[in-house]
Amino acid sequence: MSYLVDTHLHVTMMPYEGLQAMSEGGIQKAITCAIVIGAQHSESYFDHFRLITGFYKKNAEGLGIKLYSAIGVHPAGIPHDWTRVIDALPEYLKLENVVGLGEVGMNQGSQLEKDVLKAQFEVARDQNVPVIVHIPFQNRLQITELTLNIAAQVSIPANLLIIDHINLDILNQVNQFGAVPAITIRSRNVTVEALYENIEQFQHGMLNCDFSNLFPNDPTAVIKAYQYLKSKGVSDTIIDNLTRNKAEKVFNI
Ligand SMILES: [Zn+2]
Repeated sequence: MSYLVDTHLHVTMMPYEGLQAMSEGGIQKAITCAIVIGAQHSESYFDHFRLITGFYKKNAEGLGIKLYSAIGVHPAGIPHDWTRVIDALPEYLKLENVVGLGEVGMNQGSQLEKDVLKAQFEVARDQNVPVIVHIPFQNRLQITELTLNIAAQVSIPANLLIIDHINLDILNQVNQFGAVPAITIRSRNVTVEALYENIEQFQHGMLNCDFSNLFPNDPTAVIKAYQYLKSKGVSDTIIDNLTRNKAEKVFNI
């Protein structure tokens, strides 16, 4: 088996055994996305960025996983002085293995969330880096539309815009915009069975486990998807696109 890439997880929430299982199952590259739940101060993000790009990158290396980072302000923790994080993003983007912005996005579509998202889209556009955008479990159509409207206002190139946690409900919106669909494999998003049953629609996406400790997830979700699609006889071109090639191209890794 050739190696696999997981495009979205949260390494600071991961038990060592999770990373180990990923490595044993063939994941050789992974992107950890920034998240500081309930953050009050911009310093919390600066420490988090240092942690994921430093300590955890080295730790993953010991297991044979090249750990890349996406940085940014997550909607689950918007500090009162969030503009300081925005201003610092270009500096952090210069660090080794930082491949773009993420995880950004909105949960409710409040004015604050819109402002933070717009500012981060502007950074992604100006720095010419990909941005991983979260779509929540609720109000998905409205939040997706709002997200794409802000992206259009900012004139961010569509190939830099990754819409994550997609499902069939928002896939047309995402495709029409020309954004990159990312697919989270887990019970509350897309199961391996649903991925296979709708492989025609999902084939241009890229897979991730979005591992966190907020609800049930599986660090080996991408591996399980790879194995399931193989067992069903899906073409290697499609499987390789979903589990490696697309991600390497989008993030230039
Ligand atoms: Zn996430």
